[in-house]
Amino acid sequence: MHIPEIVGQDEAVRLLDREMASGKMSHAYLMWGPRGSGKMALAKRLALASNCMQSAARASASGGPESGQDLPLWFCGECPNCEKIAKGIHPDVCVVAPEGDAIKIGQIREMKWRIALKPNEASIKTWIIDEADRMTEEAQNCLLKVLEEPPGDSLIILLSEDPGMMLPTISSRCHEVRLNAIGIEELTKWAEAEFDLEPERAKLLATLSEGLPGRVATLAGDDEYFKVRDRIISTVRRVALCEDGSEALAASEDLIDQLKKAYAQAVDGGGSPEVLEISSPMGACDLMAGWFRDLFILSITGDESLIINLDHIMDIREDAARGQPSLFSRWAVKAMQTAQALRSSANPRLAMDDLFLNLALHE
Ligand SMILES: [Zn+2]
Repeated sequence: MHIPEIVGQDEAVRLLDREMASGKMSHAYLMWGPRGSGKMALAKRLALASNCMQSAARASASGGPESGQDLPLWFCGECPNCEKIAKGIHPDVCVVAPEGDAIKIGQIREMKWRIALKPNEASIKTWIIDEADRMTEEAQNCLLKVLEEPPGDSLIILLSEDPGMMLPTISSRCHEVRLNAIGIEELTKWAEAEFDLEPERAKLLATLSEGLPGRVATLAGDDEYFKVRDRIISTVRRVALCEDGSEALAASEDLIDQLKKAYAQAVDGGGSPEVLEISSPMGACDLMAGWFRDLFILSITGDESLIINLDHIMDIREDAARGQPSLFSRWAVKAMQTAQALRSSANPRLAMDDLFLNLALHE
């Protein structure tokens, strides 16, 4: 049975637990935070804790979770409700997700109709709306009507990376729960134990994931991500300091072609979000910015514990010795600006040409 594990996020877990223990749960929550922060795990855990058949009995026998004897959002993991929720087959715990690009009004209409019925087996009918910011405007207006008068035995949980994309009237009717990235040290320890990794590898994944456990979980088994990453790093190393404009332009063309292929392959083969991101020209520029930041940090401080791309420490030592910190910092800024321009629809080939010429000509 798969039990959703929540890494970090103690504050959010305790807040929800306190509300549940005091019987003051909201009918609607908006859990928001970056991809990989654990929004779906927390939503499922809330569904488990509020429907576990042993949870209520245990709470009253022990004087309630406030007595301190129970873990926050406790559930038994063995009763029929827990088993079905964990397997994703409970009739009263449903997930709505985008169909194609968006969550459409038909999906929310169906939810509206079904949520008004009495629960079949659970005590609280739970609807989790994943990527809620991708609801169409019609879907949001339809949801708004449910949020205005939610059925008493229902719980609606919206998950979003960017709640600013939704109608403010929706967020204002939900209790907001913010999920944050967690500390690299804590995440490293978790990754080491969870995926049986060497400490160095665990730290690399935690750092590359920017403190997001869901991303660590993806990267732990994602060879394709590391292949694309190595390709970008070897290109950028070759171009930086090559002092040859035409070599830089040829490398730019080659890299854009390779990224296109990797991206198309990832789309066709159901590649991870991490591969899709790093195979995009923006993702590649973000990686390059991180690379130059490593060169800058090492040449200024000499402190290798601050390096992101730990698995390339020998290359970073070598490259850092070949240039000046002021040059590395200019390049890091230029790579970030290029990523920004690409996000605003700049032409990938022209933007990459411009960046690579800067690198080759020490600008
Ligand atoms: Zn249970």
